[in-house]
Amino acid sequence: MNLSQDLIERVRAWRRDFHANPELGNREFRTSAIVAAHLKSLGIEVKEKVAHTGVVGLLRGGKPGPTVALRADMDALPVKEQVDIPFASKVTTEWSGMPCGVMHACGHDAHTAILMGVAEELAARRETLAGNVKFLFQPAEEGAPEGEAGGAQLMIEEACLENPKVGAIFGLHVTSNHPTGFLGYRSGPLMASSDELRIFVRGEQTHGALPWRGTDPIVVGAQIVLGLQTIVSRRLELTKEPSVVTVGMFNGGNRVNIIPDEVAMEGTIRTFDEAQRNAIHDHVKHISEMIASAGGAKARVQIKRGYDVVVNDPALTAWSLPTLERVAGEGRVGIVDKVCGAEDFAFFQKVVPGFFFRVGCRPPGTPLKDAAPNHSPRFYVDEDCLPLGVRALTSLATDWLEAHRA
Ligand SMILES: [Zn+2]
Ligand SMILES: [Zn+2]
Repeated sequence: MNLSQDLIERVRAWRRDFHANPELGNREFRTSAIVAAHLKSLGIEVKEKVAHTGVVGLLRGGKPGPTVALRADMDALPVKEQVDIPFASKVTTEWSGMPCGVMHACGHDAHTAILMGVAEELAARRETLAGNVKFLFQPAEEGAPEGEAGGAQLMIEEACLENPKVGAIFGLHVTSNHPTGFLGYRSGPLMASSDELRIFVRGEQTHGALPWRGTDPIVVGAQIVLGLQTIVSRRLELTKEPSVVTVGMFNGGNRVNIIPDEVAMEGTIRTFDEAQRNAIHDHVKHISEMIASAGGAKARVQIKRGYDVVVNDPALTAWSLPTLERVAGEGRVGIVDKVCGAEDFAFFQKVVPGFFFRVGCRPPGTPLKDAAPNHSPRFYVDEDCLPLGVRALTSLATDWLEAHRA
């Protein structure tokens, strides 16, 4: 399939408009209004305010058949843009009480524009479709603001995969790890689970010159940080899947000669396997509590489960490959490494078979070391990747409906 130059130009224009007007998670009011208006103009059934600011479109094909879902995320990040482009974001807001910029530093502007283009392509051939296509324009992939629910989980709770029931779901993500023109895939685990870790070590405050009169939570906390390093290196079967335990914050004390009462540590746990994930949680708790106890202190461990592992259904992945190869061309589809980043597309995949793939957006000729990664204030999307994204999702949807027709 080929796209008209007119559609390519409009996808690019939508992307630039979203890029210049980024909105944080659960606040995608302007973006979702543009999406909803576009879908309505195509005669697609539209449900708005799904999971706060999400939009679900339902395109009913001309013939009966199953339903396939396509997903795009719409939210931006609290990042101040440093890319020198005419449509760079100048938007500012507050994040955790501090002023900050807002930027589409993860490329969700591209995803939203691509799926709008896909909707137009599929609406144009609705009579020939044997089945339906659901368009999921999702808010808050990067996480909802503190104290709010949101994202894929909330969309699922609000029945976005029901009525009609979705049989498979596809989604994509742009990445500067790969050059424009390249599509990356991986069967099985692709992106990590992501859990927040908090450890509070309670000792007993004393004079810094008289440590024997109290219990030093800083020394105990330091031992715990080192103890946690043995989980991945000594306790897990390393050949199975990689995993990461990171302590990113270590706070305690306020004066050179005072040993404080308490130390607070915060970090992140990443895994590619549910059993290893649970084992790490147990080890973190046990090691922290036992080391604290050995030092005469007490450790309290809190682990907040975040996103699950993005697992590409092996059968659906194998089925998708010929389609990707057809649209990208020979030698332009390849297996990619696992990514320790997380994605809430994982939650859709727990309900229906799903396939999540990567779309290269690094300009040709730019070496990898010069391409800023997603979430960087210098993250740059080569817009020539947009038409390939539109063609890939459109073809996956039409091919899937064709292969599963009643
Ligand atoms: Zn991101
Ligand atoms: Zn993202």
